[in-house]
Amino acid sequence: MNTERMTIKDITNYLEQLAPLSYQASYDNAGLIVGYPQTEVTGVLATLDCTEEIIEEAIARNCNLIVAHHPIVFKGLKRFNGKNYVERAVMLAIKNDIAIYATHTNLDSVKGGVNYMIAEKLGLERPKILSPQKQILKKLVVFVPIENSQTVLDALHSAGAGQIGEYKNCSFRVEGTGAFTPTGEANPHIGTLHKPEEVRENRLEVIFDSHLESQILRALKSAHPYEEVAYYLSLLENENQEVGSGVIGTLSNSLSEKDFLNYLAEKMNLQTLRHTPLRGREIKKIAVCGGAGGFLLGDAIRQGADVFITADYKYHEFFDADNQIIICDIGHYESEVYTKDLIVRYLSEKFSNFAVLKSQVNTNPVRYFRNL
Ligand SMILES: [Zn+2]
Repeated sequence: MNTERMTIKDITNYLEQLAPLSYQASYDNAGLIVGYPQTEVTGVLATLDCTEEIIEEAIARNCNLIVAHHPIVFKGLKRFNGKNYVERAVMLAIKNDIAIYATHTNLDSVKGGVNYMIAEKLGLERPKILSPQKQILKKLVVFVPIENSQTVLDALHSAGAGQIGEYKNCSFRVEGTGAFTPTGEANPHIGTLHKPEEVRENRLEVIFDSHLESQILRALKSAHPYEEVAYYLSLLENENQEVGSGVIGTLSNSLSEKDFLNYLAEKMNLQTLRHTPLRGREIKKIAVCGGAGGFLLGDAIRQGADVFITADYKYHEFFDADNQIIICDIGHYESEVYTKDLIVRYLSEKFSNFAVLKSQVNTNPVRYFRNL
């Protein structure tokens, strides 16, 4: 067994490879909220919400790092005198050396994230992102002497460039002539001072995810033979099919509406759910978005989903189904509670030198009353 010392930074670096912080929504506060990155981890507690009760649980179960889906802090806190549950939770965590990390809308946005977990629970086949994100891909164009091209490409690929969907090491190259005259204090790899030079070069092009930019440029500069590397970076309008909101997939067999509602309640362990009027059609294609996903209704309808499963719907928003789809509001907690299993799965696959525990506390602030 690996007994190497693991720090909070080791764990959060890994989580951020899976769900980069740059994918989080503008209002979000994912990342390390409480704690020192260099602290050694004794155990991790995975939870949906980080309440005082969860911090008590972490203390009792010897976990000094809580990995939550929902950040306990969203906005700036000005005072710490325990007047609300957010301040009390933060104070309790600090007093007991418990670190709090949140992986929130960034984990919602990735392949294998929260919405893929819902798709997995429902047995959806061929799940894909419902609304892929734009403006997160970049293109690098770089000019490299022919003989150094492969070395530079290899370095770019190992830094993560050229990964497009299921294809890796993607690139484009075209040969041409580069011209330059070294002047001043230059110490050129090819050519001599003040003498115009022409070199056969490749123009290499690779696409990459913008969060990898600094590591890709570092790799480029260390592998490239030139003192001054000539390159262009541009932000692409293209969608990234691997990142975005919601998921859409299909059931292996279509179900009647009634059977589908039973199936949904059983798979997601629901006591109740709210839905718009049934349409008398078989259910096959399903769109899902954990938490408040109402903004994706248009995408779900355009892509021909029979049902849109999400949470936090308001009365008037239900009318928007307009007999084009069935909206199922299954509850925010119910739609995302399996994120605990997802966090446990990812961390225990990677680390064996500390315990990764799933919180046993039900943090749902909503109770259901049945008038029997
Ligand atoms: Zn949520």
